[in-house]
Amino acid sequence: MTKFEELGLQESLLRAIQDMGFETPSEVQEKAIPILLDKETDMVALAQTGTGKTAAFGFPLIQKINAESRTTQGLILSPTRELCLQITNELKSYSKYDNVNVVAIYGGASITDQAKQVKKGAQIVVATPGRMQDMINRRMVDISKIEYCVLDEADEMLNMGFYEDITSILSHTPKDKSTWLFSATMPKEVSIIAQEFMFDPVEITVGSRNSGSDSVVHEFYAVSGRDRYLALKRLADANPDIFSVVFCRTKRDTQSVAEKLIEDGYSAGALHGDLSQNQRDLVMKSFRTRQIQMLVATDVAARGIDVDDITHVINYQLPDEVETYTHRSGRTGRAGKNGVSMVIVTKSEMRKIKSIERKIQKKFEQKAIPTGIEICQ
Ligand code: ADP
Ligand code: MG
Repeated sequence: MTKFEELGLQESLLRAIQDMGFETPSEVQEKAIPILLDKETDMVALAQTGTGKTAAFGFPLIQKINAESRTTQGLILSPTRELCLQITNELKSYSKYDNVNVVAIYGGASITDQAKQVKKGAQIVVATPGRMQDMINRRMVDISKIEYCVLDEADEMLNMGFYEDITSILSHTPKDKSTWLFSATMPKEVSIIAQEFMFDPVEITVGSRNSGSDSVVHEFYAVSGRDRYLALKRLADANPDIFSVVFCRTKRDTQSVAEKLIEDGYSAGALHGDLSQNQRDLVMKSFRTRQIQMLVATDVAARGIDVDDITHVINYQLPDEVETYTHRSGRTGRAGKNGVSMVIVTKSEMRKIKSIERKIQKKFEQKAIPTGIEICQ
Protein backbone atom coordinates (compact mmCIF):
# COMPACT_ATOMS: atom_id res chain seq x y z
CA MET A 1 0.00 0.00 0.00
CA THR A 2 1.32 3.44 -0.93
CA LYS A 3 2.18 5.79 1.89
CA PHE A 4 1.82 9.56 2.01
CA GLU A 5 5.64 9.73 2.32
CA GLU A 6 5.95 8.27 -1.18
CA LEU A 7 3.87 10.91 -2.94
CA GLY A 8 6.42 13.72 -2.90
CA LEU A 9 4.78 15.81 -0.19
CA GLN A 10 6.89 18.18 1.87
CA GLU A 11 7.65 17.57 5.55
CA SER A 12 5.28 20.23 6.87
CA LEU A 13 2.33 18.65 5.05
CA LEU A 14 3.27 15.15 6.18
CA ARG A 15 3.23 16.40 9.76
CA ALA A 16 -0.19 18.00 9.28
CA ILE A 17 -1.47 14.78 7.69
CA GLN A 18 -0.25 12.84 10.68
CA ASP A 19 -1.98 15.28 13.03
CA MET A 20 -5.23 14.77 11.14
CA GLY A 21 -4.90 11.02 11.57
CA PHE A 22 -4.87 10.13 7.88
CA GLU A 23 -2.94 6.88 7.61
CA THR A 24 -2.83 6.08 3.93
CA PRO A 25 -3.80 8.08 0.85
CA SER A 26 -7.11 7.32 -0.78
CA GLU A 27 -7.07 6.17 -4.39
CA VAL A 28 -7.75 9.58 -5.91
CA GLN A 29 -5.07 11.11 -3.67
CA GLU A 30 -2.57 8.42 -4.62
CA LYS A 31 -3.22 9.04 -8.29
CA ALA A 32 -3.53 12.83 -8.38
CA ILE A 33 -0.99 14.11 -5.87
CA PRO A 34 2.27 12.89 -7.50
CA ILE A 35 1.20 14.19 -10.91
CA LEU A 36 0.07 17.59 -9.65
CA LEU A 37 3.28 18.00 -7.64
CA ASP A 38 5.52 16.84 -10.42
CA LYS A 39 4.48 19.07 -13.29
CA GLU A 40 2.34 21.99 -14.26
CA THR A 41 -0.62 20.33 -15.90
CA ASP A 42 -4.37 20.49 -16.25
CA MET A 43 -6.26 17.60 -14.71
CA VAL A 44 -9.72 16.09 -14.83
CA ALA A 45 -10.32 13.81 -11.85
CA LEU A 46 -13.49 11.79 -11.51
CA ALA A 47 -14.20 10.25 -8.16
CA GLN A 48 -17.35 9.77 -6.16
CA THR A 49 -18.33 11.70 -3.09
CA GLY A 50 -16.39 10.80 0.00
CA THR A 51 -13.23 9.65 -1.78
CA GLY A 52 -11.02 12.44 -0.42
CA LYS A 53 -10.93 14.83 -3.35
CA THR A 54 -10.32 17.90 -1.18
CA ALA A 55 -6.93 16.62 -0.07
CA ALA A 56 -6.17 15.36 -3.59
CA PHE A 57 -6.06 18.96 -4.80
CA GLY A 58 -5.48 20.63 -1.43
CA PHE A 59 -2.13 19.06 -0.55
CA PRO A 60 -0.48 19.83 -3.91
CA LEU A 61 -1.98 23.31 -3.93
CA ILE A 62 -0.59 24.17 -0.48
CA GLN A 63 2.82 22.85 -1.50
CA LYS A 64 2.85 24.86 -4.73
CA ILE A 65 1.90 28.16 -3.14
CA ASN A 66 4.73 30.60 -2.65
CA ALA A 67 4.21 31.54 0.99
CA GLU A 68 6.59 34.50 0.68
CA SER A 69 4.30 36.26 -1.77
CA ARG A 70 0.96 37.69 -0.66
CA THR A 71 -0.46 37.54 -4.20
CA THR A 72 -3.57 35.42 -4.75
CA GLN A 73 -2.11 32.35 -6.45
CA GLY A 74 -4.83 29.76 -6.11
CA LEU A 75 -8.57 29.92 -6.75
CA ILE A 76 -10.97 27.16 -5.80
CA LEU A 77 -14.53 27.38 -7.08
CA SER A 78 -17.09 25.33 -5.23
CA PRO A 79 -20.90 25.16 -5.55
CA THR A 80 -22.21 26.16 -2.10
CA ARG A 81 -21.25 28.29 0.85
CA GLU A 82 -21.19 25.28 3.16
CA LEU A 83 -18.70 23.58 0.88
CA CYS A 84 -16.60 26.74 0.64
CA LEU A 85 -16.34 26.84 4.41
CA GLN A 86 -15.65 23.14 4.63
CA ILE A 87 -12.86 23.31 2.04
CA THR A 88 -11.41 26.41 3.68
CA ASN A 89 -11.32 24.70 7.08
CA GLU A 90 -9.71 21.60 5.59
CA LEU A 91 -7.08 23.69 3.81
CA LYS A 92 -6.36 25.54 7.02
CA SER A 93 -5.65 22.30 8.84
CA TYR A 94 -3.50 21.03 5.96
CA SER A 95 -1.42 24.20 6.03
CA LYS A 96 -1.03 24.53 9.79
CA TYR A 97 2.77 24.31 9.49
CA ASP A 98 2.92 26.38 6.31
CA ASN A 99 2.33 30.07 6.25
CA VAL A 100 -0.51 30.00 3.74
CA ASN A 101 -3.49 32.28 3.97
CA VAL A 102 -6.84 30.81 2.85
CA VAL A 103 -9.98 32.96 2.59
CA ALA A 104 -13.57 31.87 1.91
CA ILE A 105 -15.80 34.00 -0.30
CA TYR A 106 -19.50 33.21 -0.46
CA GLY A 107 -22.89 34.88 -0.55
CA GLY A 108 -25.00 35.71 2.46
CA ALA A 109 -22.17 37.28 4.45
CA SER A 110 -20.62 40.74 4.33
CA ILE A 111 -18.84 41.30 1.03
CA THR A 112 -16.74 44.14 2.44
CA ASP A 113 -15.47 41.95 5.27
CA GLN A 114 -14.52 39.30 2.77
CA ALA A 115 -12.83 41.89 0.55
CA LYS A 116 -10.80 43.06 3.56
CA GLN A 117 -9.64 39.55 4.29
CA VAL A 118 -8.61 39.06 0.67
CA LYS A 119 -6.72 42.33 0.73
CA LYS A 120 -4.68 41.23 3.72
CA GLY A 121 -3.03 38.75 1.40
CA ALA A 122 -5.10 35.69 0.59
CA GLN A 123 -2.86 33.30 -1.29
CA ILE A 124 -5.76 30.91 -1.79
CA VAL A 125 -9.34 32.03 -2.32
CA VAL A 126 -12.18 29.49 -1.99
CA ALA A 127 -15.31 30.91 -3.60
CA THR A 128 -18.80 30.25 -4.80
CA PRO A 129 -19.11 31.35 -8.44
CA GLY A 130 -21.85 33.92 -7.76
CA ARG A 131 -20.02 35.83 -5.04
CA MET A 132 -16.72 35.56 -6.92
CA GLN A 133 -18.28 37.16 -9.98
CA ASP A 134 -19.70 39.88 -7.80
CA MET A 135 -16.33 40.65 -6.25
CA ILE A 136 -14.63 40.69 -9.61
CA ASN A 137 -17.20 43.19 -10.88
CA ARG A 138 -16.55 45.39 -7.88
CA ARG A 139 -12.80 44.98 -8.26
CA MET A 140 -12.53 43.61 -4.75
CA VAL A 141 -10.36 40.69 -5.77
CA ASP A 142 -7.59 40.27 -8.29
CA ILE A 143 -7.30 36.86 -9.91
CA SER A 144 -5.18 37.99 -12.82
CA LYS A 145 -2.10 36.33 -11.36
CA ILE A 146 -3.47 33.02 -10.19
CA GLU A 147 -1.46 29.98 -11.13
CA TYR A 148 -3.88 27.29 -10.05
CA CYS A 149 -7.61 27.10 -10.51
CA VAL A 150 -9.58 24.23 -8.99
CA LEU A 151 -13.13 23.53 -10.10
CA ASP A 152 -14.46 21.40 -7.27
CA GLU A 153 -17.70 19.45 -7.62
CA ALA A 154 -17.80 20.69 -11.21
CA ASP A 155 -20.87 18.64 -12.07
CA GLU A 156 -22.78 20.19 -9.23
CA MET A 157 -21.73 23.75 -10.03
CA LEU A 158 -22.94 23.29 -13.58
CA ASN A 159 -26.13 21.61 -12.41
CA MET A 160 -26.80 24.67 -10.34
CA GLY A 161 -26.56 26.91 -13.38
CA PHE A 162 -23.13 28.44 -12.75
CA TYR A 163 -21.89 27.90 -16.31
CA GLU A 164 -21.96 31.61 -17.19
CA ASP A 165 -20.31 32.66 -13.95
CA ILE A 166 -17.59 30.05 -14.28
CA THR A 167 -16.71 30.97 -17.85
CA SER A 168 -16.70 34.65 -17.01
CA ILE A 169 -14.50 34.09 -13.93
CA LEU A 170 -12.07 31.96 -15.93
CA SER A 171 -11.81 34.73 -18.52
CA HIS A 172 -10.28 36.92 -15.79
CA THR A 173 -7.53 34.40 -15.08
CA PRO A 174 -4.21 34.01 -16.90
CA LYS A 175 -4.12 31.58 -19.82
CA ASP A 176 -1.03 29.77 -18.59
CA LYS A 177 -2.42 28.70 -15.23
CA SER A 178 -3.13 25.07 -14.37
CA THR A 179 -6.75 24.03 -14.06
CA TRP A 180 -7.74 21.08 -11.93
CA LEU A 181 -11.29 19.86 -12.34
CA PHE A 182 -12.77 17.51 -9.74
CA SER A 183 -16.16 15.94 -10.19
CA ALA A 184 -18.18 12.93 -9.12
CA THR A 185 -19.74 12.52 -12.54
CA MET A 186 -18.96 13.62 -16.08
CA PRO A 187 -22.13 14.99 -17.69
CA LYS A 188 -21.89 16.76 -21.04
CA GLU A 189 -21.58 20.23 -19.48
CA VAL A 190 -18.48 19.18 -17.58
CA SER A 191 -16.74 17.88 -20.68
CA ILE A 192 -17.62 21.11 -22.47
CA ILE A 193 -15.90 23.12 -19.73
CA ALA A 194 -12.92 20.75 -19.88
CA GLN A 195 -12.67 21.14 -23.66
CA GLU A 196 -13.04 24.90 -23.59
CA PHE A 197 -10.79 25.78 -20.72
CA MET A 198 -8.26 23.04 -20.33
CA PHE A 199 -5.25 22.05 -22.30
CA ASP A 200 -4.52 18.36 -22.72
CA PRO A 201 -5.61 17.45 -19.18
CA VAL A 202 -4.36 14.35 -17.42
CA GLU A 203 -7.43 12.25 -16.73
CA ILE A 204 -7.90 10.26 -13.58
CA THR A 205 -10.85 8.04 -12.81
CA VAL A 206 -11.38 6.32 -9.55
CA GLY A 207 -13.62 3.28 -9.43
CA SER A 208 -16.20 2.75 -6.81
CA ARG A 209 -13.74 0.70 -4.75
CA ASN A 210 -13.16 3.38 -2.14
CA SER A 211 -16.37 5.23 -2.65
CA GLY A 212 -18.22 3.65 0.18
CA SER A 213 -21.19 3.14 -2.10
CA ASP A 214 -20.82 -0.62 -1.81
CA SER A 215 -21.50 -0.39 1.88
CA VAL A 216 -24.86 1.30 1.30
CA VAL A 217 -28.03 -0.76 1.35
CA HIS A 218 -30.87 0.71 -0.71
CA GLU A 219 -34.42 0.24 0.54
CA PHE A 220 -37.77 1.53 -0.59
CA TYR A 221 -41.04 1.88 1.27
CA ALA A 222 -44.18 2.13 -0.84
CA VAL A 223 -46.86 4.36 0.65
CA SER A 224 -49.79 6.40 -0.54
CA GLY A 225 -48.92 10.06 -1.04
CA ARG A 226 -50.71 11.33 2.04
CA ASP A 227 -48.86 8.87 4.28
CA ARG A 228 -45.40 10.15 3.44
CA TYR A 229 -44.95 12.07 6.65
CA LEU A 230 -46.36 9.29 8.81
CA ALA A 231 -43.96 6.87 7.13
CA LEU A 232 -41.04 9.16 7.93
CA LYS A 233 -42.00 9.23 11.60
CA ARG A 234 -42.32 5.45 11.72
CA LEU A 235 -38.88 5.06 10.16
CA ALA A 236 -37.45 7.43 12.75
CA ASP A 237 -39.24 5.59 15.57
CA ALA A 238 -37.92 2.25 14.40
CA ASN A 239 -34.35 3.61 14.40
CA PRO A 240 -33.94 5.50 17.66
CA ASP A 241 -30.20 6.06 17.12
CA ILE A 242 -30.76 7.45 13.65
CA PHE A 243 -28.36 10.16 12.45
CA SER A 244 -29.76 11.11 9.15
CA VAL A 245 -30.18 13.53 6.28
CA VAL A 246 -33.79 13.67 5.07
CA PHE A 247 -34.01 14.98 1.52
CA CYS A 248 -37.02 16.93 0.25
CA ARG A 249 -37.55 18.41 -3.19
CA THR A 250 -38.45 21.99 -2.33
CA LYS A 251 -37.46 24.56 0.25
CA ARG A 252 -41.07 24.73 1.35
CA ASP A 253 -41.39 21.00 1.96
CA THR A 254 -38.03 21.00 3.69
CA GLN A 255 -39.14 23.71 6.08
CA SER A 256 -42.55 22.19 6.77
CA VAL A 257 -41.29 18.62 7.29
CA ALA A 258 -38.65 19.90 9.73
CA GLU A 259 -41.22 21.99 11.57
CA LYS A 260 -43.65 19.08 11.85
CA LEU A 261 -40.92 16.78 13.12
CA ILE A 262 -39.91 19.27 15.78
CA GLU A 263 -43.54 19.78 16.77
CA ASP A 264 -43.92 16.02 17.08
CA GLY A 265 -40.96 15.84 19.41
CA TYR A 266 -38.22 14.67 17.07
CA SER A 267 -34.73 16.07 17.05
CA ALA A 268 -34.69 17.77 13.66
CA GLY A 269 -33.57 20.89 11.83
CA ALA A 270 -34.05 22.42 8.37
CA LEU A 271 -31.33 23.36 5.88
CA HIS A 272 -32.30 25.21 2.71
CA GLY A 273 -31.49 28.30 0.72
CA ASP A 274 -34.16 30.56 2.20
CA LEU A 275 -32.47 30.57 5.59
CA SER A 276 -29.94 33.23 6.50
CA GLN A 277 -26.30 32.29 6.53
CA ASN A 278 -26.38 32.47 10.30
CA GLN A 279 -29.29 30.06 10.54
CA ARG A 280 -27.60 27.67 8.16
CA ASP A 281 -24.35 27.74 10.10
CA LEU A 282 -26.24 27.13 13.32
CA VAL A 283 -28.19 24.15 12.04
CA MET A 284 -25.05 22.63 10.52
CA LYS A 285 -23.24 23.04 13.80
CA SER A 286 -26.06 21.37 15.72
CA PHE A 287 -26.06 18.53 13.24
CA ARG A 288 -22.29 18.01 13.29
CA THR A 289 -22.32 17.97 17.08
CA ARG A 290 -25.20 15.49 17.07
CA GLN A 291 -27.64 17.86 18.79
CA ILE A 292 -29.89 17.23 15.82
CA GLN A 293 -30.54 13.68 14.68
CA MET A 294 -32.39 14.46 11.49
CA LEU A 295 -31.23 17.17 9.12
CA VAL A 296 -34.04 17.91 6.68
CA ALA A 297 -32.45 19.43 3.59
CA THR A 298 -32.74 20.36 -0.05
CA ASP A 299 -30.21 18.88 -2.44
CA VAL A 300 -28.58 22.22 -3.08
CA ALA A 301 -28.09 23.05 0.59
CA ALA A 302 -26.77 19.60 1.47
CA ARG A 303 -24.49 19.22 -1.51
CA GLY A 304 -21.11 17.75 -0.67
CA ILE A 305 -21.54 18.34 3.03
CA ASP A 306 -19.23 16.02 4.79
CA VAL A 307 -20.54 14.83 8.12
CA ASP A 308 -19.18 11.59 9.46
CA ASP A 309 -21.18 8.58 10.48
CA ILE A 310 -24.53 9.38 8.91
CA THR A 311 -26.50 6.19 9.45
CA HIS A 312 -29.44 6.78 7.12
CA VAL A 313 -30.19 8.88 4.10
CA ILE A 314 -33.93 9.26 3.76
CA ASN A 315 -35.39 10.26 0.45
CA TYR A 316 -38.63 11.82 1.64
CA GLN A 317 -39.23 12.56 -2.00
CA LEU A 318 -37.17 11.22 -4.88
CA PRO A 319 -35.18 13.71 -6.96
CA ASP A 320 -35.80 14.18 -10.68
CA GLU A 321 -32.28 13.22 -11.66
CA VAL A 322 -30.86 9.79 -11.00
CA GLU A 323 -27.47 11.42 -10.46
CA THR A 324 -28.89 13.41 -7.58
CA TYR A 325 -29.92 10.15 -5.94
CA THR A 326 -26.32 8.96 -6.17
CA HIS A 327 -25.15 12.15 -4.50
CA ARG A 328 -27.72 11.76 -1.76
CA SER A 329 -26.96 8.15 -0.95
CA GLY A 330 -23.24 8.95 -0.99
CA ARG A 331 -23.77 10.87 2.27
CA THR A 332 -23.83 7.58 4.14
CA GLY A 333 -21.72 4.43 4.15
CA ARG A 334 -18.50 6.40 4.19
CA ALA A 335 -15.07 5.50 5.50
CA GLY A 336 -15.83 1.80 5.68
CA LYS A 337 -19.04 2.22 7.68
CA ASN A 338 -22.38 0.76 6.64
CA GLY A 339 -25.27 2.96 5.68
CA VAL A 340 -28.85 2.74 4.55
CA SER A 341 -30.46 4.82 1.85
CA MET A 342 -34.23 4.75 2.27
CA VAL A 343 -36.74 5.94 -0.27
CA ILE A 344 -40.36 6.73 0.51
CA VAL A 345 -42.24 6.23 -2.76
CA THR A 346 -45.76 6.25 -4.05
CA LYS A 347 -46.98 3.77 -6.66
CA SER A 348 -46.64 6.28 -9.46
CA GLU A 349 -42.96 6.77 -8.65
CA MET A 350 -42.02 3.11 -8.81
CA ARG A 351 -40.52 3.36 -12.27
CA LYS A 352 -37.99 5.83 -10.87
CA ILE A 353 -36.75 3.08 -8.58
CA LYS A 354 -36.13 0.95 -11.66
CA SER A 355 -34.11 3.63 -13.40
CA ILE A 356 -32.04 4.23 -10.27
CA GLU A 357 -31.36 0.50 -10.02
CA ARG A 358 -30.09 0.50 -13.59
CA LYS A 359 -27.84 3.45 -12.87
CA ILE A 360 -26.34 2.27 -9.58
CA GLN A 361 -26.30 -1.36 -10.66
CA LYS A 362 -27.79 -2.45 -7.40
CA LYS A 363 -31.20 -3.74 -6.40
CA PHE A 364 -33.43 -2.02 -3.90
CA GLU A 365 -34.96 -4.03 -1.12
CA GLN A 366 -38.68 -3.46 -0.76
CA LYS A 367 -39.55 -3.01 2.90
CA ALA A 368 -42.76 -2.46 4.77
CA ILE A 369 -43.18 0.60 6.93
CA PRO A 370 -42.62 -0.57 10.51
CA THR A 371 -45.86 -0.88 12.43
CA GLY A 372 -46.43 0.39 15.94
CA ILE A 373 -45.99 -3.08 17.40
CA GLU A 374 -42.55 -3.56 15.91
CA ILE A 375 -41.48 -0.20 17.21
CA CYS A 376 -42.53 -1.02 20.77
CA GLN A 377 -40.53 -4.24 20.86
P1 ADP B 1 -14.95 14.26 -1.47
O1 ADP B 1 -14.60 15.70 -1.76
O2 ADP B 1 -14.35 13.30 -2.45
O3 ADP B 1 -16.42 14.06 -1.29
P2 ADP B 1 -13.67 14.79 1.06
O4 ADP B 1 -12.44 15.43 0.56
O5 ADP B 1 -14.73 15.69 1.60
O6 ADP B 1 -14.30 13.86 -0.07
O7 ADP B 1 -13.25 13.67 2.14
C1 ADP B 1 -14.18 12.88 2.80
C2 ADP B 1 -13.72 12.58 4.21
O8 ADP B 1 -12.60 11.71 4.21
C3 ADP B 1 -13.28 13.81 4.99
O9 ADP B 1 -13.78 13.70 6.30
C4 ADP B 1 -11.78 13.73 4.99
O10 ADP B 1 -11.22 14.38 6.12
C5 ADP B 1 -11.55 12.23 5.01
N1 ADP B 1 -10.29 11.84 4.36
C6 ADP B 1 -9.79 12.30 3.20
N2 ADP B 1 -8.64 11.67 2.88
C7 ADP B 1 -8.41 10.77 3.85
C8 ADP B 1 -7.36 9.80 4.09
N3 ADP B 1 -6.36 9.65 3.24
N4 ADP B 1 -7.45 9.04 5.21
C9 ADP B 1 -8.49 9.20 6.06
N5 ADP B 1 -9.51 10.08 5.90
C10 ADP B 1 -9.47 10.86 4.80
MG1 MG C 1 -15.59 17.38 -2.27
